[in-house]
Amino acid sequence: MSTSILWFRRDLRTGDHPALAAAATWAQHGSTPNGQNEQAEVLPVFIFDPAQCHLHGRWRYHALINGLQELNRTLDGRLLVLWEDPVTAISRLAKTIGANSVHVTDDYTPYAQDLYERVEDALDQQNLPLVRTGDPYLIPPGTITTQDGGNYKVFTAFSKRWFALPHPGPMPTKVRNGKIEAKIGRSIAKTVDIDQVPAGGLKVTAILKDPSEISGFESQTVNLDKCTGAVPEVWTTHIGEKQAKVRLEEFLTGPAGVNYDTDRDRMDRDGTSRLSTQLAYGTIHPRTILAELAQADLPEKASERYATEIAWREFYGDFLYCQPDSAWENVNPGFARFDWDDDQEKFEKWCQGQTGYPVVDAAMHQLVESGWMHNRARMVVASFLTKHLLLPWQWGAKFFLHHLVDAEFASNQHGWQWTAGTGTDASPYFRVFNPYLQGAKFDPEAIYIRAWNPALQSLLERSENESESKTLPGLEIPENKPHKVAYPRPLKAGKTIWLKELDAKTAKKLHEKPGQADYPEPIVDHKTAREEALRRYHARND
Ligand code: FAD
Repeated sequence: MSTSILWFRRDLRTGDHPALAAAATWAQHGSTPNGQNEQAEVLPVFIFDPAQCHLHGRWRYHALINGLQELNRTLDGRLLVLWEDPVTAISRLAKTIGANSVHVTDDYTPYAQDLYERVEDALDQQNLPLVRTGDPYLIPPGTITTQDGGNYKVFTAFSKRWFALPHPGPMPTKVRNGKIEAKIGRSIAKTVDIDQVPAGGLKVTAILKDPSEISGFESQTVNLDKCTGAVPEVWTTHIGEKQAKVRLEEFLTGPAGVNYDTDRDRMDRDGTSRLSTQLAYGTIHPRTILAELAQADLPEKASERYATEIAWREFYGDFLYCQPDSAWENVNPGFARFDWDDDQEKFEKWCQGQTGYPVVDAAMHQLVESGWMHNRARMVVASFLTKHLLLPWQWGAKFFLHHLVDAEFASNQHGWQWTAGTGTDASPYFRVFNPYLQGAKFDPEAIYIRAWNPALQSLLERSENESESKTLPGLEIPENKPHKVAYPRPLKAGKTIWLKELDAKTAKKLHEKPGQADYPEPIVDHKTAREEALRRYHARND
């Protein structure tokens, strides 16, 4: 019997999974180079890390539980889920079952790199390797270098090289009836000294170990079935390998994909892939996405644009790995002397969606009430925090990390730095978004703000099932042309919200002056705030 451990972290899938293939290979061939173990077993484990759990907001947590439940189903209920310090858990587990190796997908955040080193040290004492195979990116961070061996600081130059490199296709791995099947090539075979790999790859198999056979972990074991009731069935939390594939297909064959190039900025439309949460938890890998994208019948512009967005994710992953200090420090050292404010009260108003700017408030409600926010809205609220309220980008980044269901450390920290003007390639600090104009341009019928801003919603919404209610003046809903809101508020899952069509002039007015007695006055005046931002920007060099 030869057993290896597969430690799942941000890779909650079984298809296109190099570490799964590596675990099966070690189980089958690990202790007998060029030979085969009669009974090869892989124990899949996920560990809730108590040091990280408090950082997860409820939506993130729900998505994770949902992703684990889905993964467990695919693994025929054989996923061991623990709540323990991962260093202790992994080394104890390896010892208890007499594992020959521990396998994990590499992860390039500073926290993960440090954690892996600590696990490596602990396993070293048992003479066991922690084998890192694959990672969440198409091209591993640190691979694309400039001529002098450094990392790229500018996206366009990075993406040129990224597009020019061969893009690896998905790795054939699957789990069926409790058995792992994979086809491996030279790189994985090499890790256990297998010499002969046929041209088409070598087939490896292993069975999944039943975790109920293992004793000594009862008090740390999490029962996923008991978490079921807590998970709302809404798209932001409903993640898993199957759901990711379904959503990808929907996107690539539907209007969102076809019109991606033009609609991706529209906050009022369902115009993006909404795959970020799946990517964050690794229920799908960019290899699979790009392979499907290449096969899809999309206009060239849409297809290129979509691949470019994936490349942004790769760029930020690469940058953070090469410059880990950029996680919390300004990339642009010129901001070391910037005079940020320290106003907790204003920050609270921003968090609660009470700034008096309809689009900012709607976006913050979308975040807190659904765990997701449209990309354009992320830019608007991040710009507002750093340039209107003059608060440090790190405050906003932390709040996002807690609430965003798709929180990815590299994309988040650098998305913030980009918007704040302190980061790579940054939109310059002196370019201050006008929230009114952003709203009018990217939400021209005020659909987004009416859907997400509760102060406006109470007047302007009605549900599909409600009886006729055209009593409020100006709120008639045309029967023939209603707008279906792109992101129904998840707490009202199943209910469709229909909104009256508004002409651009009325919508613009709604963006600027909601005209409701209880709507808060703007927390800062746009013009004055802009001037103050520019003054501080220039003062930093004095
Ligand atoms: P699509 O438009 O369908 O894009 C496809 C994929 O490309 C996304 O799923 C994502 O993986 C990637 N992508 C798209 N835009 C970007 C971008 N600007 N930077 C990096 N990757 C991108 N994205 C995260 O995944 N996690 C975060 O924590 C995160 N925080 C952000 C914070 C700020 C302040 C800003 C401005 C952006 C942030 N983004 C983050 C990027 C972007 O907003 C989201 O990736 C996007 O909204 C996800 O929706 P989607 O999957 O429908 O995107």
